[in-house]
Amino acid sequence: MNIIGKLFSGSLIILYTVSVTACGSSKKSDGSSIKEEESALEVQAPTFNADSAYSYVKAQVDFGPRVPNTKAHKECGDYLASELERFGAKVYNQYADLVAYDGTLLKSRNIIGAYNPEAKKRVILFAHWDSRPYADYDEEKYHHTAIDGANDGASGVGVLLEIARQIQKQSPAIGIDIAFFDAEDYGIPEFYQGNYKADTWCLGSQYWGRIPHVSNYKARYGILLDMVGGKNATFYYEGYSQRTANNVMKKIWNAAHELGYGNTFIKEKGGEITDDHIYVNRFRQIPCVDIIHYDTNSDTGFNPTWHTIDDTMENIDRATLQAVGQTVLQVIYNEK
Ligand SMILES: [Zn+2]
Repeated sequence: MNIIGKLFSGSLIILYTVSVTACGSSKKSDGSSIKEEESALEVQAPTFNADSAYSYVKAQVDFGPRVPNTKAHKECGDYLASELERFGAKVYNQYADLVAYDGTLLKSRNIIGAYNPEAKKRVILFAHWDSRPYADYDEEKYHHTAIDGANDGASGVGVLLEIARQIQKQSPAIGIDIAFFDAEDYGIPEFYQGNYKADTWCLGSQYWGRIPHVSNYKARYGILLDMVGGKNATFYYEGYSQRTANNVMKKIWNAAHELGYGNTFIKEKGGEITDDHIYVNRFRQIPCVDIIHYDTNSDTGFNPTWHTIDDTMENIDRATLQAVGQTVLQVIYNEK
């Protein structure tokens, strides 16, 4: 993913205001806001196990960088589909040849696990499972080195696998879909000399947005987890989420604060980020929130290991996985 505007000098920012209708009706008849009064702790959610999530992050990293068209990618895809099946989900595999910024054909695979697939009321949770082929924010000698993507990729998937395990033990009241999107992080690198091309990130979610795993797919809202395992991570209100899914976003941050994660979920505006949530919203009109590590002290807005060879297991912190996983569980178990 990328910060919108930073790399492209702001000139290519396109504001999609068409989809800002999704959660406009949260006023009660007396004019007060339902969302502000509603406690996210009404229903006690299952307890998230960060050790378990950590082991799922490590299992992915152990395959090696999950770059499309590699053996590690193929093996990890098989692992993720079999884990979702093991945790009782109905699993859909979407295979597609997607065209990268430089014309490379990426043998891609979106993997979706559905719980309670007949339910009309649904929430979709998603993360990207591929890892970046370039450490283009590292020293130049590493620019063509694929990253481990422990945080950027594996962390979100690891948290979602642990959530899948919890859902199998105790179902929430609504249907849940867990989507692992491919080819998110094959976006145009800094060093590329060819012509600029738009929409080169998030190829898997763009494909799914056009052709979802079930026709006419709908969900109440979506939550994207991206870089949710870093040390001392902070999550701010991401700009696109704020414009298109403000109520859902507030509900998540309120739940985090009620659970005691106020130092991790900061109730202030962060950057605006090109990520899978944009395409899920744009193509399927689903309000989506991106929970993504945002660092106010760094030049890029991301954590220091972002798109470097240091995005490794050593920099994964169970406490961050716990804060995010427990918060998401709390939110989805309180949906009726
Ligand atoms: Zn990335």
